This record gives sequence, C-alpha cells and structure tokens, in this order.
Amino acid sequence: MSQQMRQRRGQPLFILNEDTERTRGKDAQSSNITAGKAVAESVRTTLGPRGMDKMLVSDSGDVVITNDGATILQKMDIEHPAAQMIVEVAETQEEEVGDGTTTASVLAGQLLAQAEDLVEDDIHPTTIVEGYREAARLALEAIDEVTLTDELDDELLAAVAETSMTGKGTGDIDAAALAETIVAAVQQVRSDDGVDRDAITIRTQRGAGASATELVQGVISEEEPLNDDMPTRVDDASVAVLDLDLEVREAEIDAEYDITNVDQLNAAIEAEEAELRGYAESIAEADVDVAFVTGDVDDLVASYLAKEGVLAFDSVDDDEASSIARATGARTVGTLNDFEADDLGNAEVVRVESFGDDDLAFIEGGAAAETVTVFARGGTEHVADELERALEDALDVVTAALDAGGVVPGAGATEVAISDHIRTSVASVQGRKQLAIEAYADAIDVLPRTLAENTGMDPIDALVELRSVHDAEGRAGLISQGQSGDVGDPVEYGILDPAAVKREAVESATEAATMIARIDDVISAE
Ligand code: ADP
Ligand code: MG
Repeated sequence: MSQQMRQRRGQPLFILNEDTERTRGKDAQSSNITAGKAVAESVRTTLGPRGMDKMLVSDSGDVVITNDGATILQKMDIEHPAAQMIVEVAETQEEEVGDGTTTASVLAGQLLAQAEDLVEDDIHPTTIVEGYREAARLALEAIDEVTLTDELDDELLAAVAETSMTGKGTGDIDAAALAETIVAAVQQVRSDDGVDRDAITIRTQRGAGASATELVQGVISEEEPLNDDMPTRVDDASVAVLDLDLEVREAEIDAEYDITNVDQLNAAIEAEEAELRGYAESIAEADVDVAFVTGDVDDLVASYLAKEGVLAFDSVDDDEASSIARATGARTVGTLNDFEADDLGNAEVVRVESFGDDDLAFIEGGAAAETVTVFARGGTEHVADELERALEDALDVVTAALDAGGVVPGAGATEVAISDHIRTSVASVQGRKQLAIEAYADAIDVLPRTLAENTGMDPIDALVELRSVHDAEGRAGLISQGQSGDVGDPVEYGILDPAAVKREAVESATEAATMIARIDDVISAE
C-alpha cells in the first residue's frame, strides 16, 4: 500500500527520522522522573527563612544572586523536557500567586520520587494518577479547614508580607519596616473591586542602603530633563503627557528646496525655526508646567521650553507615560492642534533628584493620585535586584490574601494539617489507589522536613514532634528563630502564608507530576 493510500484512509503515519531518539516504557518513565526530581532538588536548600541563596552565572558572565525559586529555575539552562515541566510549575506559581515557587517545585519533585517507588512496586501509572488527584482534592479540603477566619487587618497583612520576605536578602533593612510599606501601598490602591495591583510600581535604585526604601505617592520616571536651564522642581504643576515628536516634520525635510541663494536658505531655516518655536509656544500657552513627551524633542524646542520655564522630558516609555497620565489625571494627546487646558493633569510636585549618575523625576500627589511607587534602595545592583524580587513577592502575597481567599498558618503547619487529613481520610479508600494517596501524604511531608533541615534541626525528630503537637493543639509549625527552630503555633509568631499560595502549589505540582508519570514513550527529533 502506498503512503498516499494509507493517508487517505485516515491512518496516522509517523515516519521517524534516522536520527530520532526514542525511549520507551519504564526507561522513559525513569529518565523523566529522574530529571524532574533533579531540578526540584536544586532549589530545595533555598526553602524557608534559613534557606541558602544560589549564585547563577550566565554564559556571558552575568551574575544573579537569589533565593527565589522561580528565578533560579528560569536562569538555569534546563533542556530536559520533563525537567522543563518542573520549571513550568514554578512559572505558573509565580504568575498565578507570585510566591511559593520553591514550595511548588519541591512538592512536584517529591511527588515524582514517590511515583517512582510506586512504579517499582508495580502500581500502574493510571492508578498513581487517580490516587494523586484524589489526594490533591483532600489537600485542598485541608487548606480550607485551616484558613484563618480572623479579619485581615493591617497587622495581619504585614505579617503575611513579612513571612514572604524572610530569608530573602533584603539588605540592611528589617523585613518588618518593608512589610509596613507594602501594606500601605496595597491599601492605597484597594477598592471594593479589589486590589489594583497594576497601580503599584516598584522602582529600585542602587546607592543608599536598603533602609532608605520609601513609599512615593505617585510615579517615578527615569528620564532626565531635556535642558539644564529647566527648573528641577515645580510645585502645583500642570502636567501634559504628549504622545508625539516635537521635531521638524518629515515632509518638510524631504521636500526638495530649490535653494539658489542665501536669502532662500535663510527663509527655509526661519520657517523651520518658526515651526519649532510654534510647538514650544502652544505648550507654554496652554499653561503647561511639566511636559512628558514619548517621542523625540528637537534641541531648539527644548531650549524654547526652558526659556518659558517649562520642565520637559522626552523618550518617556509608553508604560511610564500612561502611569503618569493616570496619576495626574492628564489626557494623553497625540497632536498639539487642539491642545487645551482640559488635557492637563495636576501634581502637587514634580521634582528631579540625582542619585549618583542617574536623575529621577518624582511626580507626586497627583490630582488623581491612585498610583503609588515603592522606591527601594539597595547598596549594590545585586542587593537592589533581590530586594525588588522580595518586594514583588510581598505585594503579591498581600494582594492574594485580600483578593484570593485569606491566609493560612505558615512554617509547615498547613502541610502537617494536609498530610494528617489525607492519612485520616485514606482508610475508606479501597485497593492500590490507597497506596498512591498515602504516597502523596508522604510527599507533602518533604516540605516541613526540608524546613527542618534548612533550620539545622533533625528532620525526623522535627516531623515526629510536629505531628504530636498538631494532634494535641491543632496547629504546629517549625518556628525558625536565630540559629535554631522550635515547634510552635505559627499564628502566634505572625508566620502566615496566603491560602492561594498553598492551593496553587498543590494544583500545579500535582498536574506536572501526574503528567510526567503517565508518559511512557519519549520520541525526540535530533
Ligand atoms: P517559596 O518560594 O516556596 O515561597 P520560601 O523560601 O519563601 O519559599 O519559603 C516559604 C516557607 O517558609 C513558607 O512555608 C513559610 O511559611 C515559611 N516561613 C517563612 N518565615 C518563617 C519563619 N520565621 N519560620 C518558619 N517558617 C517560615
Ligand atoms: Mg516565598
């Protein structure tokens, strides 16, 4: 039968290239599981407040020092397809809730490790998948049960923010002060519709120590004033946001002047100058104090504007321009033709400040001040970068606590409750699936076990004590303090995580592990 005939009959036809590699059955499974486990293992030591950092060096020699699971996995050049799925777990976790990336990938890795044992005991992958799904459902039930019913006041929210930052290199500032700044930022952009996360920007600037971090009621722009003669501070400023170029129009440059004498040349130059002056005049006549222009501004326009006392910036990026428009209530205009007072926004103050070699423009107290900027300072670029990641996490967890279902006890207490709930419920399950469900509970245990290890405690003793305190008092976590750890109630110590972080970790880790466990054939093109 010819190839064409076969295709016509609708049978799939796979033609494998000679170079194609193919691994099947248990070999495929075990190579996938090993790769997935290895990736999860690589971030394990960063989990928790006493987790270590990783230094990542790229091909070109760029260095990143971080404790953030998602960042580590993203910067590692991971090629194995199954390992890549663990990276995706971290990415999904980061996108959905912004924290818990290490938790999710460590859990996914451990679910794979348990799956490997189950496969060796001849439990079929589909049974493993069913058991894992059932266990994940029980885990979500347990999370709901331990979710705190307390009102989410500022103190509680600050505790959530602080919990997410412990263990991250936040420079010389204590996490408590940063947490307060974060909660203040979130409260400012919060309405009945929830937290407007996009209205909060984080801007880091190296130079001072991290303790100089502050909340700016408005926007910070990276652009420098166009001309040294422009004012560097304008109070009660009328602000224009212009999405255009202030240059001689293309058409006139391209037009072929037939210039035969000096008079004609002068006339042409004068016409251009008049056009440029016209731009500056229409801006000044509209009583603009500060102009943010997204396009290019001719030097001549800049000097006319300076003469008129206007502070102006060019090449402002689009996102920045729209935040400025939003913060000041200005309307972004694309032409000066019918530019009017109505288009202008207002700010209490626009001021330019120098930080080493960089100038930053602060646009504060806008008429429509609904945007805030967390202005974070770090001594060096690496400190500033890690501080920014810590602040992003903190913003995300406070947002998730408010908008996505409250908070649960941290420090491993929720995990202890999850595995307890799974083990208690499994008795009613018949057959081999029961083994898979129990294996899931064992996998969850890796989280408190790792917290214990990273805190320098004996993991087995710690787990035994956690379980007994959990049974007796209903809540037990590994409270890390100074050089060691103690078993106690995380809520009393203000160690709280958003419920959404735990839910997402359970869901995405289960999904990845079950997907990898089901694969029994790997066909790869060279
Ligand atoms: P992830 O990327 O999963 O967020 P982290 O390194 O941020 O990883 O660690 C998060 C875990 O550390 C959470 O389970 C959290 O409850 C716990 N944790 C935070 N602060 C403390 C503390 N002081 N003592 C014990 N555990 C803590
Ligand atoms: Mg975290």
